[in-house]
Amino acid sequence: MHDAGLPLPARGVFTTRAGGVSLPPWDSLNLAVHVDDAFAKVQRNRDLVVEQLGLDGLAFGKQVHGNGVRVVRGLSKKTSRGLDDTDGLVTTVPGIGLAMLGADCLPVLLAADGVVGAAHVGRPGLAKGVLPEVVRVMRAEGAGEISAVIGPGICGLCYEVPPSMAGEVEKAAPGSRATTRQGTTSVDLTAGATRQLTGLGVAVRTVGGCTLEQPDLFFSYRRDGLTGRHGGIVWLPPQSGAPAP
Ligand SMILES: [Zn+2]
Repeated sequence: MHDAGLPLPARGVFTTRAGGVSLPPWDSLNLAVHVDDAFAKVQRNRDLVVEQLGLDGLAFGKQVHGNGVRVVRGLSKKTSRGLDDTDGLVTTVPGIGLAMLGADCLPVLLAADGVVGAAHVGRPGLAKGVLPEVVRVMRAEGAGEISAVIGPGICGLCYEVPPSMAGEVEKAAPGSRATTRQGTTSVDLTAGATRQLTGLGVAVRTVGGCTLEQPDLFFSYRRDGLTGRHGGIVWLPPQSGAPAP
């Protein structure tokens, strides 16, 4: 796990493949239940993360490449099975982690004073505006200055798409059309997400690099097809000002 370096007291991490119990091709810290991995292993991986981060609970979404954002007010179990149609999560409750998963799509973590958010941003989500929606919901929950950290995802040099598709995404998210190493059309999710967020007054950093190019560190759907999901997790510490776990 890598610390996302969010402004304290908010905390965030990006998980890698390392440290879990799943077998190939999900080895090893697969956090997703929808990719044909054994459910007990995914649950164990999720429990391991909750224990390591010292969380009271961890919320997941049933991600559908949309722009649905849910506010988490509490959890009945330590790890939620997933809220329907959710590609963004927001909470003001300390101790509850928000998880957004990907294997090329970007996990994006956002933090403000007393409010945190997380988003799953692939090509469709970028175009549908899941990030502006998370920012809108965070502000409705009282967020002032917002900082965001964009995690690992497929890069613009790797993410080849047909020119028409790149054009559609560019229209919805200017700055996202790019070119691969081979000179073909691509989408740069990070560039598009960065421009969307900065346009809303959000301070943005990126960490983690390209999922497709780092097979030892990250899952990549484009590279491997059947594979696991790593993720980004953001939370407010159980007690404001408490030492980091
Ligand atoms: Zn790449």
